[in-house]
Amino acid sequence: MSETTTVAGAARRGGLAEEAAARDAGDRLAAKRAEFVLDDTVYLDGNSLGALPAGVPDRVADVVRREWGEMRIRSWTESGWWEAPERIGDRIAPLVGAAPGQVVVSDSTSVNVFKAVVGAVRIAQEDAPGRTEVLVDASTFPTDGYIAESAARMTGCTVRPVPAGEMAAEAGPYTAVMLVNHVDYRTGELADLSGTTRAAHRAGARVVWDVCHTAGALPVDLDAHGVDFAVGCTYKYLNGGPGAPAFLYVRADLAERFDSPLPGWNSHVDPFAMASVYAAGDGAVRGRVGTPDILSLLALEESLKVWDGVDIAEVRAKSLALTDFFVRCVEAYVPDGRVHVITPAAHERRGSQVALRCPDAGGVMAELIARGVVGDYRRPDVLRFGFTPLYTSFADAERAARVLAEVLAEATTPGGPA
Ligand SMILES: *Cc1c(COP(=O)(O)O)cnc(C)c1O
Repeated sequence: MSETTTVAGAARRGGLAEEAAARDAGDRLAAKRAEFVLDDTVYLDGNSLGALPAGVPDRVADVVRREWGEMRIRSWTESGWWEAPERIGDRIAPLVGAAPGQVVVSDSTSVNVFKAVVGAVRIAQEDAPGRTEVLVDASTFPTDGYIAESAARMTGCTVRPVPAGEMAAEAGPYTAVMLVNHVDYRTGELADLSGTTRAAHRAGARVVWDVCHTAGALPVDLDAHGVDFAVGCTYKYLNGGPGAPAFLYVRADLAERFDSPLPGWNSHVDPFAMASVYAAGDGAVRGRVGTPDILSLLALEESLKVWDGVDIAEVRAKSLALTDFFVRCVEAYVPDGRVHVITPAAHERRGSQVALRCPDAGGVMAELIARGVVGDYRRPDVLRFGFTPLYTSFADAERAARVLAEVLAEATTPGGPA
């Protein structure tokens, strides 16, 4: 490297580092970072496991020692354990644009995909028995595809994979349900929730949205867009902790028609009647199955307090600013041709992550992690960087791009990391 390019590089870096500092100083969400347990690692994997909100350890200790240890069975009523799935659902509801009473927190996303797809097929076939096709996002997160396939087999349907962007055009008279990922977990591409939902309804089909990568990252507006069913994770941008239970949204006017394929006793209209015949409860409770996992649920409830006073539109604005800035830093620092940005540049088509295609992505990510920049690697060649606006700074984005450039520069030097 000649002296002039080194100096030019330093000037460019100085410019972006200064810009990052200025943007962080003007960031109205910057103070939120102090509500999380973080160190000086650049943590860009909140789209896989959100960071720990600082209040959670004490709350979990209290649930274990006092509510369980001292109050024992009384806590089901006196500590609000029994109603926790609906109560916490109502806390998530405004973050996904849902009025109260439509969201329940229960089970995993995978299980909720099953409930939603079967429930949606049953409604579609009640309206028109000839509907036997389930369209599944062709680049779906695998679990959704596996479960849709089984749900289809059980309901006399077949699955047809269709790219998310083509779903609207593909829905037809035989379509019962469309199952779409709001964001492609690999590329970070954001699907058109509004247009796709409208197209499903025009075709007489029902739509199930998987909002795992958008809940807590951007406005989802389920009610405003007339979404039928939605499922989502709470351990990604909602920071609920590893394996925290997922949520299920059933639109209010469909609740009465939602015939869950897993009608456990917790969803019964009168669970403690211990009746031999099932009768579904009203509203969100229909999404429940069995006894809720209270420790995880209450950890999630505590973690949701970081959202108090936060406007999700402001979160979105910061997410777009962060991802724009990160891409600019990558373009400035990384030698031409070493990585290829596969996340769409257009804001309306981008989630809250940036994915880069790169040869030896696995080795590169391992080296990034060793140097304190944590993203993740998706086979065969994708580096994924998730941006959580509540705790990611512009300085984090700049440092991640700078360290990536260093790693890639060394990788081309004989003797450097392969
Ligand atoms: C993370 C994720 C899941 C995870 O499902 P689990 O049942 O929690 O393992 C499902 N779908 C999508 C789109 C995801 O991003």
